[in-house]
Amino acid sequence: MDIDSLRGCLSGEAALPGNPVYDEGRTVWHPPARYREPLAVVRPTGTGDVARTLRWARDEGVRVSPRSGGHSFDGFPVRPGCVLLDLSPMRDAGLEAKGLLRVQPGSRVLALAEALAPAGRALPLGDCGTVAVGGLMAGGGFGYASRQFGLTIDNLVEATVVTGNGEVLRVDADNAPPLYWSCRGGGGSACIVTEFVIRSFVAGQVTAFDIVWDWAAAREALLGFDAVIRSAPRKFDLKLKIRTTGDGRFLDSAAAGPQGCTPGTPFVELSGQYLGPRAEAEALLAPLSDHPAAQKVLIRQENYFDAVRELLPLPGLNDPAPPTLRPMRVASDFVEGELRSGDVDVLVGFVDALQHARDLWGGCILLEPADGAVNDVASAATAYPHRKGRLVLQWEMIESSDPHAAGTARLDDLLSNAREALGPLLTGGRYVNYADRMDTAEDWWSANLGKLRSIAAAHDRSRTIVSRLYP
Ligand SMILES: Cc1cc2nc3c(=O)[nH]c(=O)nc-3n(C[C@H](O)[C@H](O)[C@H](O)COP(=O)(O)OP(=O)(O)OC[C@H]3O[C@@H](n4cnc5c(N)ncnc54)[C@H](O)[C@@H]3O)c2cc1C
Repeated sequence: MDIDSLRGCLSGEAALPGNPVYDEGRTVWHPPARYREPLAVVRPTGTGDVARTLRWARDEGVRVSPRSGGHSFDGFPVRPGCVLLDLSPMRDAGLEAKGLLRVQPGSRVLALAEALAPAGRALPLGDCGTVAVGGLMAGGGFGYASRQFGLTIDNLVEATVVTGNGEVLRVDADNAPPLYWSCRGGGGSACIVTEFVIRSFVAGQVTAFDIVWDWAAAREALLGFDAVIRSAPRKFDLKLKIRTTGDGRFLDSAAAGPQGCTPGTPFVELSGQYLGPRAEAEALLAPLSDHPAAQKVLIRQENYFDAVRELLPLPGLNDPAPPTLRPMRVASDFVEGELRSGDVDVLVGFVDALQHARDLWGGCILLEPADGAVNDVASAATAYPHRKGRLVLQWEMIESSDPHAAGTARLDDLLSNAREALGPLLTGGRYVNYADRMDTAEDWWSANLGKLRSIAAAHDRSRTIVSRLYP
């Protein structure tokens, strides 16, 4: 690999092992990935550098793996034998006329909320402030306002891309429509996006809320959550988490769990937003907030930015971490029907095992709405195909840093058994932004996979861009 010939034509940097830029580039959210060794880390300063890198890589016969915010749950972008293209310094974000947001891929979600705040505008932006728009848009983008405004990709108006063949294009509904289609959930498989233009909305009043329930009432919480979501208007968005407690049992759980909840057991967290006044939110939440199992109820009316800031409280996730830090595995499903009592038993049993099995390390299940405006879009209209699910189900499992530990295979069994027991409740689809090692490309893109592969074959003939399209 002739890195000097690339350096000669770049405005940015191309770093080899030993250079601090190399280590910064591979410092991502997934702890084990921070110790993988890409061939080099390239830091472009703009679209021109990205194009020069892709053309150089194609001629050299090496593959390029794009990274924006580095939040891929399995550290996907950091790969031995590939060049890591670190887009994180490309992070300009500005609001233009008609509420259009022009952003570079390394812009963090919180920076987007900041750019929107002075104009009182909003966008579904996920729930983690340090996720970057590059990877969020690659897969879809669920956020608290998704029932009302759709996925983040549903609001993509235009993108500037560099194809795997090295061509720079501006894509939208009229220009290179197949690439524009693939930029909305295609997992970065045909091109690397260097700028997005995204539609935003007037936010108005926002009421944010957090409720904690004791583990003893977890079944009721699940059924109550499901009933509230089924009848609530689109302006109402709510997530449910049931998470384990105990020292080192989960990412950031206090050892004893929240005050008022039974120590040494999991607990239920309900958090969300209503795009309207407090009194209306309180009426919708009453079945969950006025219940005797509710230990903590916080409901507050505020502006959109403050509401987003509170929901995105994860600073420092990209700090270097020791290789022994336990990674979090995340898998997903889409729930199609109504939750029944047998389904609830399966979900509660899953968390119970994570809490109490001696060879497992804790975790969480998370349910969030995938209906409303998300399902107004036809499955074939964007590369993201999952338009008939009601809820996204996220399985979060802390793993050992040793991939051969007995618990690793136990988690596969636990997950497979839970899925089998839920049976027809699940659509069979999976969300590529919560990609798991047991998933396949068919799970992520279902009927859209063939079209996505043919777009990638035309625009990335040498398969220069690393993506999840092929195993
Ligand atoms: C704590 C946490 C909370 C999360 N919460 C949510 C949530 O609420 N809603 C939600 O939808 N998702 C959520 N996610 C998942 C998140 O959307 C994905 O992990 C996303 O891929 C992260 O984007 P990134 O740029 O930070 O990641 P990266 O690891 O940098 O990128 C991930 C992948 O995206 C592709 N990619 C990145 N940049 C580009 C580009 N410029 N052009 C083409 N392809 C590109 C590449 O294939 C890359 O491997 C969460 C993740 C974490 C860690």
